[in-house]
Amino acid sequence: MTTVYMDNNATSQVAPEVLEAMLPYFHDLYGNPSSAHTFGGQVAHNIREAREQVADLLGAASPEEIIFTSCGSESDNTAIMSALHTEEGKNHIVTSRVEHPAVKVLYGHLGKNGYSATEIPVDKEGRLDMDRYKESLSQDTAIVSLMWANNETGAIFPVEEAAQLTKSRDILFHTDAVQSAGKIPIDLKNSSIDMLSISGHKLHAPKGVGVLYVRKGTRYAPFLIGGHQEHGRRGGTENVASIIGLGKACELAGKHMKDENTRVRALRDKLEQGILARVPSSRVNGGGSERLPNTSNISFESVEGEAILLLMDEFGICASSGSACTSGSLQPSHVLRAMGVPFTMAHGSIRFSLSIYNTEEEVDFVIEKVPPIIQKLRDLSPFWKPEGQVCASGT
Ligand code: PLP
Repeated sequence: MTTVYMDNNATSQVAPEVLEAMLPYFHDLYGNPSSAHTFGGQVAHNIREAREQVADLLGAASPEEIIFTSCGSESDNTAIMSALHTEEGKNHIVTSRVEHPAVKVLYGHLGKNGYSATEIPVDKEGRLDMDRYKESLSQDTAIVSLMWANNETGAIFPVEEAAQLTKSRDILFHTDAVQSAGKIPIDLKNSSIDMLSISGHKLHAPKGVGVLYVRKGTRYAPFLIGGHQEHGRRGGTENVASIIGLGKACELAGKHMKDENTRVRALRDKLEQGILARVPSSRVNGGGSERLPNTSNISFESVEGEAILLLMDEFGICASSGSACTSGSLQPSHVLRAMGVPFTMAHGSIRFSLSIYNTEEEVDFVIEKVPPIIQKLRDLSPFWKPEGQVCASGT
């Protein structure tokens, strides 16, 4: 059975070119970049090149603004914890209701430890309530952390506009760009964003490497304290091969951005339209907002997302129900609940997330297989009436 992989927001395939770039660092080029000898120095030089490749994708003014970390979660935690150190005396922090747990759970934790955390609501399409956002900013606000694009729905927040509002108030602004990097253009040179997180495994680099961008001049305190690596901004011997891989992946992402926004977007739209046309009582969550080109979150009335996943798995189709990072719990996703998606719809939501490696044949295959799966589950559902009416008890 072949695999039809449409779960790229959970993790993505390492690009063959990335793997090839990494391999020498496991055998020939194994020196420590901090060593004084030429053997290690060569590796330090190659890390500098990777830093430039990342800076290019993000449109950063200087490669020195790039700090390599172990993952997106570490980058998010570092940015937020840094602000709490540097903005001593300020006890208010702002975020949205639909963040990834790497931010949401940290804010919840901080909220129980002396900070007052404001979570800005979103509307039914997943759009940020900008009026509430503006009202939330105060002299006591240490940091705003807002995701650039949502991992479940692909909905894009106006982070630049939000960042500009913090600038005049001297509030630090961080964005979690883990899902947007490589999919939509980012130009940090001409931006008010102070800090930004990305993660290697979402853009065809390996797992276990990430980046925190910190704008030159931004007040900053390291989270991982140790050696002088990353100019003292993140201790720990560098994950060299993965850093080289991430550099290469960023270079490729820049080249593939057009394909992502034309061909991949067209495939995503075909997938959505094909499924919606064949399955009654289905809808796209966040379809009315500006969205990432690769992401589609579709709800099917009165069926269970986990059951859909299991039946799709029999055909080799990989997707997610709710957020991959929170699956394992059968609670409807916090993102869909924040958007006010009705209970019977939120439970039956599937996220398809495509990449440049998907083909039209795969999309046709999914369009062919999904509708009978939903029909089969609805035939078994006590909440589904044959004529398409939902039982009252299903709300
Ligand atoms: N932020 C977002 C929006 C994500 O989607 C994810 C992973 O799914 C993360 C952060 C965490 O990244 P990592 O898995 O590299 O820790």
